[in-house]
Amino acid sequence: MEFELTESQKMLQNTVREFVEKEITKEYCRRWDTNHETMDWLDQRIRIKGIELGLFCIAVPKEYGGLGGGMVDEVIIVEQVARRSPTAAFSVGGRMFVELIMQYGTEEQKNEYLPKMANGTIGFAIAITEPAGGTDVLGAMSTTAVSNGDNFIINGQKIYITGAHRADFICTLAITDRNQPKRSKAVSLLFVDRKSKGLEVKPLNKLSMRGAGTNEVFYADVRVPRENLIGELNKGFYQLVSLLNPERIFCAATTVGLAQGAFEDALEYAKSRMAFGKPIGQFQIIQHWLADMAIEIEMGRLMTYKAAWLLDQGKPAYLEAAAAKVCTSEIAVKTTTNAMEIFAGAGVMMETDIQRYFRDARQFTFAPISNEMARNFIGELMGLPRSF
Ligand SMILES: Cc1cc2nc3c(=O)[nH]c(=O)nc-3n(C[C@H](O)[C@H](O)[C@H](O)COP(=O)(O)OP(=O)(O)OC[C@H]3O[C@@H](n4cnc5c(N)ncnc54)[C@H](O)[C@@H]3O)c2cc1C
Repeated sequence: MEFELTESQKMLQNTVREFVEKEITKEYCRRWDTNHETMDWLDQRIRIKGIELGLFCIAVPKEYGGLGGGMVDEVIIVEQVARRSPTAAFSVGGRMFVELIMQYGTEEQKNEYLPKMANGTIGFAIAITEPAGGTDVLGAMSTTAVSNGDNFIINGQKIYITGAHRADFICTLAITDRNQPKRSKAVSLLFVDRKSKGLEVKPLNKLSMRGAGTNEVFYADVRVPRENLIGELNKGFYQLVSLLNPERIFCAATTVGLAQGAFEDALEYAKSRMAFGKPIGQFQIIQHWLADMAIEIEMGRLMTYKAAWLLDQGKPAYLEAAAAKVCTSEIAVKTTTNAMEIFAGAGVMMETDIQRYFRDARQFTFAPISNEMARNFIGELMGLPRSF
């Protein structure tokens, strides 16, 4: 058994750390969080530097102009970026779309999209959730894509769609067979050009991850060319399910990095803040909080790297990926809550970073999947009867 990163993985980790220190400064993150409505998702200048270093969309295979990095490589990058800014970490991923195109796309789609993903000239958002519910996603769905000659015509609404305001394509899950009673066999995935006639994106105001804009998307007779169907007609749900592991591991890496960033700030503060003539880090309860943070973050990190390693080995990782997501999101909430206690009054002031980590951590226990639902899946994977 080997717990060490390889030499090239250590180099990658150092490169990302240096990139983050230099480019994604704390000052930049504060401005981004405050002025989220007027700032781009991640400054184009920073994006280009990250792309040149090979840190963005590392999953694109070499034959399509990418680096062909594995899940462990992506976890290394995401963890380091999220340590400073979980919002920025959202800009470096994209494996889900790479896998979607690689596994289900036509050769034309691979040639069209993958090189552009590798050089950062194309962006995607995923639109699954609808206003009637995100957990019972199929039961709540009413958006339809009706076949019409060489096109599909989409009508409906999606909600909480991250990055839809800046994506070139919104990958939309829609009902394509209205006569099929089993919804899992009736839906398909379509790449919808964000600039399509009839498509409207409305930003939502939110507590967490303010730099990663989240939106409502409205479709009114949106015409989508048939060649933008991704994968097989009516198989969209099964395709999505096969891509859940990378998404959950990505989410786990983000929350490990987020918790690590909050922990480091709290540790620094505990060493310098004085009370009763001593640094507050001398008080036992503060030491115990910090010790627990370090223990739990390491636990979450090990689970995340193991799930990523399993995926890279082509081994089953459903349980491990879901468990890593549940564990790390809850650790991030607990770590940031105790970090706030350590900062006390200073923690709730908007000029400190700790309140940003605290707010950002909140969404990960229910997005992209709620921890209750993830636990349901884990229960099923342990052989228990389906609970829903
Ligand atoms: C900031 C943010 C960004 C997002 N980005 C995207 C995106 O880019 N694309 C996208 O498609 N979606 C996105 N989502 C949606 C996200 O996937 C959903 O919010 C999530 O699936 C939960 O759905 P819901 O919010 O409708 O909660 P609901 O489904 O209404 O659930 C409410 C509560 O009921 C519980 N519950 C429901 N069913 C069960 C059950 N069977 N057993 C136990 N408990 C249950 C849930 O766990 C939860 O506690 C985003 C959400 C947020 C908050």
